[in-house]
Amino acid sequence: MKTADILIKNATIVTMNTQREILQEAGMAIHGDRILKIGKSQDITKEYHAEKVIDARGKTIFPGMINTHNHFFQVLLKGLGKDRGLLAWLEGSVQKAFRYIEEEDLYLATAMGCIELLKTGVTTVLDYQYLHNRPMMNDVVIKAMEDTGIRGILARGYSDTKQFPEAFRLDYNETEQQFFDDALRLSNLHQHNPNIDIALAPGIIWSMTEDGYRNLVQVAKQMNTFITMHTIETKEDNEFSIEQYGMPTIDFFEQVGILSSPFLAVHCAEITKQEIKKLALYDVRVSYNAISNMMMGYKTLPVEDLIKEGMTVGLATDGAASNDNQNMLQVLKISPLWQKAFYQNPAVLSASRVLEMATIDGAKCVFKDKELGSLEEGKKADFFIYNHLKCGSVPMVDSVVNLVYCADSSNIETTVVGGKIVYDQGKIMGVEEEQLITRLQKNAVLLWKKADLYNTQWGKRIDY
Ligand SMILES: [Zn+2]
Repeated sequence: MKTADILIKNATIVTMNTQREILQEAGMAIHGDRILKIGKSQDITKEYHAEKVIDARGKTIFPGMINTHNHFFQVLLKGLGKDRGLLAWLEGSVQKAFRYIEEEDLYLATAMGCIELLKTGVTTVLDYQYLHNRPMMNDVVIKAMEDTGIRGILARGYSDTKQFPEAFRLDYNETEQQFFDDALRLSNLHQHNPNIDIALAPGIIWSMTEDGYRNLVQVAKQMNTFITMHTIETKEDNEFSIEQYGMPTIDFFEQVGILSSPFLAVHCAEITKQEIKKLALYDVRVSYNAISNMMMGYKTLPVEDLIKEGMTVGLATDGAASNDNQNMLQVLKISPLWQKAFYQNPAVLSASRVLEMATIDGAKCVFKDKELGSLEEGKKADFFIYNHLKCGSVPMVDSVVNLVYCADSSNIETTVVGGKIVYDQGKIMGVEEEQLITRLQKNAVLLWKKADLYNTQWGKRIDY
């Protein structure tokens, strides 16, 4: 008998392979961080022996979901600055907070966000750093990702903070060269880390100089990575681009070489039909952030139009300051509902299409579909075990529809990342969840006091 580390038996496995096979009475042998064998349960248990055997009878195994856009620091700002547009929201919550966020705050926010993602079926998250008020904060985010066991893509951010209004000035400012140097440092540091990758993420069109964008494309090549950016999120994005560069954002991105690089565009709420055609030509991937876009009152990304042009669209939570949590199961449900309402057509974005966006297309969005996004031999063992026998999801006719429209976190029993059980039966393995909850509440309240952040309801100020 051959040896594996984990054996799964008697499961229904939604593989998301190219034939989209759903295997019944199926099993999986896992060795190290990879899937060794997948097939009939009785064949797998005959061929392999493992110390850890999971009998998943009556349960469904799905590939781990991929959250293509997030900002973990915003877990500290959950519930603040609601009911206003992007720029007012930035000024009234996020920008005010930056200078006061310390290492411990960021660690707690990231770890808590990772826990919520793991409990809602996410095994890979792209976390987009827009700026920090101290130098080593990216390393703090990576540390929290590693401690909780999630697979992370740290999108190293940059903004020319010297342009910020006086009220939001930071004490720590980087030049474009410092940004590139630190991205290369992180990339070298983690080049053999199986769970951490580094991408490049200037905040938005006004974050860098034109030369900076051209250099960015070269640095991405050097790092063998991709670029991700907030892209035509609001009208101001194009207005700035026309004023500064004499052309709209997408044309500018084409000119400086961003579109010819591996590129994940985020939001694209203001996209036109012509621009969709152009992005499709360059095989640009798009991150669709339904909940945060609805919260901010953006236009609807016309997902069906993008798909018709052959584009790849992934799903995302976005940061908790505009979501206001990190619950991927809510994203699964709301993402198609918004499209059905927008097109006035219930047939658009079916449950099976949504699951593709959350898994294999999500993997394409982060340029890792050779390793992630489906359960196949040789791929990373990233998955979750789903039990439909809970009050909100029983009875079940079809596990895909059940997951997309009926699920909550109580359905997800076990989450495995790279062959490691990181969440099981309510318990997160890598960190002390209860302690983190208490510390996060305490640190967040202190941060809000320092930054003078509060809510208003019925005209009255509300502090915690
Ligand atoms: Zn964002």
